[in-house]
Amino acid sequence: MDKIELNSLGLDELRSYMVSIGEKAFRGEQVFSFFNSRMGLNLDELQVLPLKLREDLKENVKVNEIRLLKRFDSKVDHTKKFLFLLEDNNIIESVLMEYSHGLTVCISTQVGCSMGCSFCASTKEGRIRNLTPSEMLNQIYFIEKNIGKSISNIVLMGSGEPLDNYDHTMKFLNIIHDTKGHNISYRNITLSTCGIVPRIYDLAKENIPITLSISLHSPFDDVRTEMMPIGKKYKIKDIIEGCKFYEKTTNRRLTFEYTLIEGVNDRKEDVDELRRILKGTNSHINLIPLNPIKEYKKDRPSLSSIERFQKQLTKYNIQVTIRKEKGMDISASCGQLRRDYLSNE
Ligand code: SF4
Repeated sequence: MDKIELNSLGLDELRSYMVSIGEKAFRGEQVFSFFNSRMGLNLDELQVLPLKLREDLKENVKVNEIRLLKRFDSKVDHTKKFLFLLEDNNIIESVLMEYSHGLTVCISTQVGCSMGCSFCASTKEGRIRNLTPSEMLNQIYFIEKNIGKSISNIVLMGSGEPLDNYDHTMKFLNIIHDTKGHNISYRNITLSTCGIVPRIYDLAKENIPITLSISLHSPFDDVRTEMMPIGKKYKIKDIIEGCKFYEKTTNRRLTFEYTLIEGVNDRKEDVDELRRILKGTNSHINLIPLNPIKEYKKDRPSLSSIERFQKQLTKYNIQVTIRKEKGMDISASCGQLRRDYLSNE
């Protein structure tokens, strides 16, 4: 039987675990704050626990760690990309970005991804496995220790589809938000999904006010499905219905990610259809000029076309921004670093 991953447990689970091995529940709190407030990993440093308990834990449970393979520092802005090695030798990547409102970490939630979006490097070998809660937490804790600063925002927008790893993602959110741990406000967390409709409803019912961000990329089902095979399963109309439910339940504004691809989704009819489908939502569109990858031979529109697209949407009173590109000199696309690293090794 696999050993329990101690740093994947939430506070209540750690309390229960301690009681189950004949200890007092408060020991669970001590362990939780060691992992999630002090960002410790080595149980020998958990000196508040009696030696015997530490030894028993070392024998019976495991503490998951990640190792830095390589850090890439952008020369054009302060973006840093991290390639991490997991305990089973899988590789994931995370990104640290500097904004005026603070430091943001973009984390991965799976090794690879099974969603098959044509413009995305993360999915080219499919999904290898889900990350555990501690593997998500460790990306953040490692980066904070590495740079000696605290981060203020988290985006679940790296490799993987977070709603395809639902239970672990929920556990991660619960742990990172816990006031006895890292205490990150739900409002500072954004979860990006390609639109797994039933899970959008589940997420709304969790009653946690994180920002929901939908990778939309086209308002037309046929065009979207060409880019995103998930469109075969979930139609745009149903995604928007789910989003409206999310907005009503959580009172949070929605975000739609829209990668602009020349001649594919940057036409006037796209603007008109976006206006139609987003009517009645409190939403915001992030326009992302395509970051070309070698497996997807399409181009980004010219800057003037991007600005024209933005203006047309603004005219319809749709809130829209062009996402500022970060770390363009260090493989900007999600999953590209990992793929480059694997092919070079
Ligand atoms: S864009 Fe997101 S959902 Fe689509 S394949 Fe890439 S990681 Fe998966």
